Amino acid sequence: IVRYRKVSKSFGDRPILKEINLDIAPGEKIAVIGPSGSGKTTLARLLMTLEEPTSGTIEVDGNQLWHKTVQGKLVRADEKHLHSIRGKIGMVFQHFNLFPHMSILRNVTEAPIHVLGLDKEEAVERAVSMLKKVGLADKLDQYPAQLSGGQKQRVAIARALVMRPKVMLFDEVTSALDPELVGEVLTVIREIAEEGEMAMLLITHEMEFARDVADRIIFTDGGRIVEQGTPEQIFYRPQSPRLITFLSRFR
Ligand code: ATP
Repeated sequence: IVRYRKVSKSFGDRPILKEINLDIAPGEKIAVIGPSGSGKTTLARLLMTLEEPTSGTIEVDGNQLWHKTVQGKLVRADEKHLHSIRGKIGMVFQHFNLFPHMSILRNVTEAPIHVLGLDKEEAVERAVSMLKKVGLADKLDQYPAQLSGGQKQRVAIARALVMRPKVMLFDEVTSALDPELVGEVLTVIREIAEEGEMAMLLITHEMEFARDVADRIIFTDGGRIVEQGTPEQIFYRPQSPRLITFLSRFR
C-alpha cells in the first residue's frame, strides 16, 4: 500500500535519509528501530507530506505524493488528490497535540465531521466506539488537562483511528510518558495490531514491544536501512556490527 523508492532527504546540506526503498503491504506491521537521529521520524513525516523529499518517490495505493516536473523539480500532488491520499494515513506523535479547549469526545469527532463530512450523529457514534476501544468510554465529557499522559495518548490514538486509515504511523508514542503509563498505551496498540486489517509503521525504542507486534523489523542508522528481517532474525541473529552494538544497549 506504501512504496518509497530511492527516497532521500537532506536538511540544508545535511543528508538525513539516503535512497530509502521501503514497501508496506496492506495489513503489514513494521517496526522501525535505530539510534536517535537516524531519520526515523523524517521517514514518517515524509509519508504524511509534512516534509518533502529531496529526491525519490513515495506512493500510497499507487498514487504519487510528489511529481517531478520537466525541470526535474519535485512538486506536491494537487490538493484534491493529496486530500484523498492523506485520508488513508493516520499518525500518532510523541506529543499528543490534543485540542485543549475541546472535550475528549469533540477531539475525536472534529475530523470525521469537518474532513470526512459525516453528520454529527454518525461521527459521535464512531468516536464513542473508538474511545471504548481504547478504554476511555467514561471520559467523553472531560478535557485533556484532566487526563493522565497515557489517557491523552489513547485519545490521540482514537482520534487517528476514527478516520479508518489503511496505514497508521506511531512515532515513539510512549517516549514522553512516565514509565508506569507506557504499558497501557502499548496494550492498546497491541490490541489494534491484533485486529489485523490496518498496516502499521511503529517507530519505537521498546524492543520487546517491537518483537511481539511486528511482522518485520527495520533497523536504520546513518540515514539508511542497514538491516531488516523478522523479529527472530533481527533480535536473535543480527548480522551487521552496527545492529549488534545497538541491541547490546538494551540487554
Ligand atoms: P529520534 O529517535 O531522536 O526521534 P529520529 O531517528 O527519528 O530520531 P529524525 O527526527 O528523523 O531522527 O531526525 C534526523 C535528523 O534530522 C536529526 O539530527 C534532526 O536534528 C534533523 N532534522 C529533523 N527535522 C529537521 C528540520 N526540519 N530541519 C533541520 N534538521 C532537521
